[in-house]
Amino acid sequence: MALDRRLIGFVGIAVVAAVPFLPIPPFWITLLNNIGLASLVAIGLVLLTGVGGMTSFGQAALVGFGAYTTAVLTTAYGFSPWATLPLSLLAGALVALPLGLITVRLSGHFLPLGTIAWGLALYYLFGQIQLFGRYDGITAIPPLELAGHRFFSSGSIYYVIWGCVIAVAIGARNLLDSRVGRSLRALRGGTQAAEAFGVDIVRAKLTVFVLAGVLAALSGWLYAHMQRSVNPTPFGLNMGIEYLLMAVVGGAGHVWGAIFGASLVLILKDLLQRFLPDLVGITGNFEMIVFGILLVAILQFSRDGLWPLILRALPARKRRPLPKADGALGRRKLAPEGTTLVKLEAARKTFGGLVAVNDVSFDVKAGQIVGLIGPNGAGKSTTFNLITAISPLSGGKVIFGDATASAKSPREVARHGIARTFQHAKVLPEMTVLENVALGAHLRGRSGVVRSVLRLDRAEEAILLAEAETQIARVGLADYRDRPAGDLALGQIRILEIARALSLDPALLLLDEPAAGLRHGEKQELAELLKKLRAEGVGVLLVEHDMSFVMGLVDHLVVLDFGTKIAEGNPAEVRRHPAVVSAYLGGVS
Ligand code: ADP
Ligand code: MG
Repeated sequence: MALDRRLIGFVGIAVVAAVPFLPIPPFWITLLNNIGLASLVAIGLVLLTGVGGMTSFGQAALVGFGAYTTAVLTTAYGFSPWATLPLSLLAGALVALPLGLITVRLSGHFLPLGTIAWGLALYYLFGQIQLFGRYDGITAIPPLELAGHRFFSSGSIYYVIWGCVIAVAIGARNLLDSRVGRSLRALRGGTQAAEAFGVDIVRAKLTVFVLAGVLAALSGWLYAHMQRSVNPTPFGLNMGIEYLLMAVVGGAGHVWGAIFGASLVLILKDLLQRFLPDLVGITGNFEMIVFGILLVAILQFSRDGLWPLILRALPARKRRPLPKADGALGRRKLAPEGTTLVKLEAARKTFGGLVAVNDVSFDVKAGQIVGLIGPNGAGKSTTFNLITAISPLSGGKVIFGDATASAKSPREVARHGIARTFQHAKVLPEMTVLENVALGAHLRGRSGVVRSVLRLDRAEEAILLAEAETQIARVGLADYRDRPAGDLALGQIRILEIARALSLDPALLLLDEPAAGLRHGEKQELAELLKKLRAEGVGVLLVEHDMSFVMGLVDHLVVLDFGTKIAEGNPAEVRRHPAVVSAYLGGVS
């Protein structure tokens, strides 16, 4: 049997299972238990920081909530430990949710600073509450018990801890490899593209916040029953920094890397605590200094952590065939040819004193290709952003089909069946071409977090991926399906964006300079594709500088200059229009 990653995984799990039977010193088991507990928190941070792009120094406080919940309920109210498990997890979720709500609104450096603030505040809170035993904490917490067997020894709770770690790691991997996972992974690459395809960004951010909180609380619950006493110390900012270091060492975006990072940091900490005081001759928390240096060094020399270096040494992942799709996605019923899909009524956008779009009106109908042309800075991309609600209107209206008011968010626009590409391509370079394109089909699936974690989403996922594959083949990128989008040339990335837009099954397609960077042959293929879409009844709004490409393709042209519409009509009319000739087409026609 060839060595593959699956086999390595099975061997790894077998080794984990055999450890308590090996002739090793008992403190190794204790260390492994601590590594398992830390891994749970670090996996949460992989979701939050590595995937969601939000740095939290405050996870240790959430571990505390999980620990104190069970500590109080089992000692003061006589709950059995297992009965408190859901309550501890709920406590983690309930604390993480409002913290997340406040924190996700912070941007840049304010977000990590915000997490430091609540991490510190909660730590001091633990030390002040009478019910929590103040700084003395709570003792005599009962051990876990299963079928009459009480888990007093570190060897017995070891299996509970590592069973949780492995289950959580697999669940997290499942989640990332799903419709929800794509939307979570899209958070880090700037949110505009994801929003334009219907991803609810705030909800996605809160999802990772709550998941990370629940995992921290699970770690706390286990900790309380392993240690059988709790006090505020392990839930302070020091530990919060250590958890973050683990996730960063592991590579932030890698689930198994979190376990690796937790192992490395805790083993190193153990060694440093044992040998460093002898070396420097005085006692103190010197490991924090070493960790600080380590964190800076990793960020400087191996931004993606150390796990990717190990991944490179492992055998390459086999190219998986796509799962068999049982059925296909339903297609949108397109409006009859000539129906108005979008109508701009005196749409206006100002940036300070600059009028970027000056009371522009036009519409796009089903089965029509409309060209939007004008010199650089004329306001074409801004018009796209007004239509897709990425920028709010300063005045006027954008009405879709039979809607009565302008859409309020890019998500709402996407739900009207409007898909777009960006002049400055917005793809997720680390995700494959297939995954990027599948993001376009986000609104055509329904599976949520629970279904994804439990792999109940597979039938739907296969159909979504099959749709993405169809669109990839349609635009001619089939050979690149499994390559990271970052490997593609700029022209190919524009084509990828078109495939992503088609995955939404659009009624109206907005393309911002799609042919820039394409070779002649590729432009012709693009023109053929657009003609085919038109024949199917899709409406297309096209911004393009290549006049021979535009003139041969469009049914209707709108010409902007300095934000103002200076001409409109069919290509022949516009070509003859005096204002156009002087402002723009002078040299071309
Ligand atoms: P086009 O796509 O036609 O080349 P744009 O719509 O990108 O033009 O830009 C129109 C005008 O609006 C330009 O003068 C540009 O500098 C300005 N502009 C665009 N976006 C912004 C912004 N976010 N803030 C300030 N000015 C902007
Ligand atoms: Mg532009």
